[in-house]
Amino acid sequence: MCGIVGYIGNREAYPIVLKGLKRLEYRGYDSAGIALINDQKVKVYKKQGKVADLEETLLGVNLHSHIAIGHTRWATHGEPSDANAHPHLSPSGKIAMIHNGIIENYLPIKKELLAKGYSFQSETDTEVLLCFIEDIQTCNQCNLEEALRIALRRIVGAYCLLLIDEENPETIIAARKGSPLVIGIGKNEHFLASDASPIIEYTKEVVYVKDYEIAIVKKDELVLKNLGNENQTPFIIQLDLDLAAIEKGGYDHFMLKEICDQPQTIHDCLRGRLDADTGQITLSGIQEYLEEIIRANRIIIIACGTSWHAGLVAEYIFEELCRIPVEVEYASEFRYRNPIIHLGDIIIAISQSGETADTIVAIEKAKEQGAIILGVVNVVGSTIARISHAGAYTHAGPEIGVASTKAFTGQLAVLMLMALKIGNAKKTIDQEKYQLLCKELSKVPDKVAEILLQEKRIKEIAIKYKSARDFLYLGRGYNFPIALEGALKLKEISYIHAEGYPAAEMKHGPIALVDEHLPIVFIATNDTFHSKIISNMQEIKARKGKIISIITDGDETASEISDDFIAMPWMNEIFAPIINVIPLQLLAYFIGTENGHDVDKPRNLAKSVTVE
Ligand code: GLU
Repeated sequence: MCGIVGYIGNREAYPIVLKGLKRLEYRGYDSAGIALINDQKVKVYKKQGKVADLEETLLGVNLHSHIAIGHTRWATHGEPSDANAHPHLSPSGKIAMIHNGIIENYLPIKKELLAKGYSFQSETDTEVLLCFIEDIQTCNQCNLEEALRIALRRIVGAYCLLLIDEENPETIIAARKGSPLVIGIGKNEHFLASDASPIIEYTKEVVYVKDYEIAIVKKDELVLKNLGNENQTPFIIQLDLDLAAIEKGGYDHFMLKEICDQPQTIHDCLRGRLDADTGQITLSGIQEYLEEIIRANRIIIIACGTSWHAGLVAEYIFEELCRIPVEVEYASEFRYRNPIIHLGDIIIAISQSGETADTIVAIEKAKEQGAIILGVVNVVGSTIARISHAGAYTHAGPEIGVASTKAFTGQLAVLMLMALKIGNAKKTIDQEKYQLLCKELSKVPDKVAEILLQEKRIKEIAIKYKSARDFLYLGRGYNFPIALEGALKLKEISYIHAEGYPAAEMKHGPIALVDEHLPIVFIATNDTFHSKIISNMQEIKARKGKIISIITDGDETASEISDDFIAMPWMNEIFAPIINVIPLQLLAYFIGTENGHDVDKPRNLAKSVTVE
């Protein structure tokens, strides 16, 4: 959540920071702002709305500077407004600061500062922290770095902070705890950002700043310290990311590009891991813990949002193939309960960004109690990847569209590989079935490509139903989580109310909503219980609901009952979810765009939920 960018070096800082903010806009877009030092003074420009709105108001303004920081906000404290936009200025007007995160104890600190006579321009927790830092500096007669250290020892919450100070115009000071910060190392220049996307066009050498570290960044020097003022060694890593992966490449939206990228991203995820001919699965991350996993009495999957749906699919598959009981938990609930964890329980934590705040804390809690943590993460080097004992990357490449698509299918592919590998090692899958499933999984990229050819048909269906007020998504067994995911995609980007339900449960409530105005999307491809879902479709038909179905090609019974259908290539039921979600992603995309919404930046949402 929220994007942070900074630059210090010999180039003009403003265009670099502005471009970086545009790349990070998927992380938050309530407002945007920039601070720079020009004419020896700190200057702040900020505006409610998108980065493009800020850019427009700055046309013709003298923004010459070699140091700048910028922010796109996802509001937590105070409505989206010009005043609440970052950067904030200190009471003296000499220090500007941007912040990603939440200062949980800002209220008592604010009260103390108000009692001292300070006043505030915004409702944010951020401005309180900045005022606190400057007050410490004044009272202790110390430099900004020391004041920041003292302040950070007192505050509770999560932060990534960048500060610039007109008294010290050659330095950006940064700090992090819980919110991500990457520093790119150039020749006589440094780039700072929430993730690597604004940095990679300038340098591939980066340092991931750790929790409780403070970075003192000059154009030709990077010093890292801990809160005890001891120097830390920066660990420089080489980024493996190319620029094309974070650009739209001719598509109207990142979301469509990312949907269409899936044959490739799933292929990339399976490549080198699955040898369908020999039945060899190589997952070096989990190999080390295979014995413990085989012996485990229980797997707990923790995740949020779309990743939680991937976890639900995994529950069905792991229980079927590995015969290990699986529980799927919302990270936000798990962390605040008193969960019962036994030594040797396996936790699988799923997160696209690897920075999801609730999931991180849930992992830490489970780790303390002796669980083994396996991370399923997309962003290489992210916090969850680092704090897990082992795991597997999804290799989907940067996902910019706020509504997750290719990261979801990447998660499913990894979880399917894991289940096959564990089931095979545990001998809970017979050899013939194992070989067959390996072959089936290897065919997924081609089948996804085949489904994408139906884009036009899906768009027609979207146009037909785009004005509906509600949607119901129904599925059974492996496809129940896909009903949830289809409904979530529609809600996220079209703002149409949608509910996902197990098809048989419909009779216990939602059926009351059915009339001739309600479209009901059935995920009804061939599986063991196909006749059951056909009966559910009949029940809807009898009540005049409109049926849109995802069916296996050639299924005449289902196509006859349906008002509209999308025919899918045949797929083994265990892996059907990974292909069945594709038409639902496209349906949501077209309903969103046909209704005129900015699907890459749906209102109120943000990618990478780094606040709890
Ligand atoms: N808590 C701060 C605010 O509401 C920062 C939010 C963010 O991470 O964008 O302004």
